[in-house]
Amino acid sequence: MQKIVQYRNKCIGCGVCAEQQPELWRMSRKDGKAILLRAVKKKEIFVLPMNNSAHQKTLEVIQVCPVKSIKIS
Ligand code: SF4
Repeated sequence: MQKIVQYRNKCIGCGVCAEQQPELWRMSRKDGKAILLRAVKKKEIFVLPMNNSAHQKTLEVIQVCPVKSIKIS
């Protein structure tokens, strides 16, 4: 199964992911960075198995993230 991978340390908190895909992303009030909801933390990387219905939208979010901190693996 494919996974969404977020390199959270790269996030600059622009908020585009949370705007475009609020079912998967939320902005942290603590540090202003994006939180990938229900993701598992592995070292400093957050990983979430990808639901097929989220696939297209996630690809769009990956394209617009200004620091390329989101990937699919
Ligand atoms: S689009 Fe990228 S830089 Fe912007 S909040 Fe989301 S993860 Fe962070």
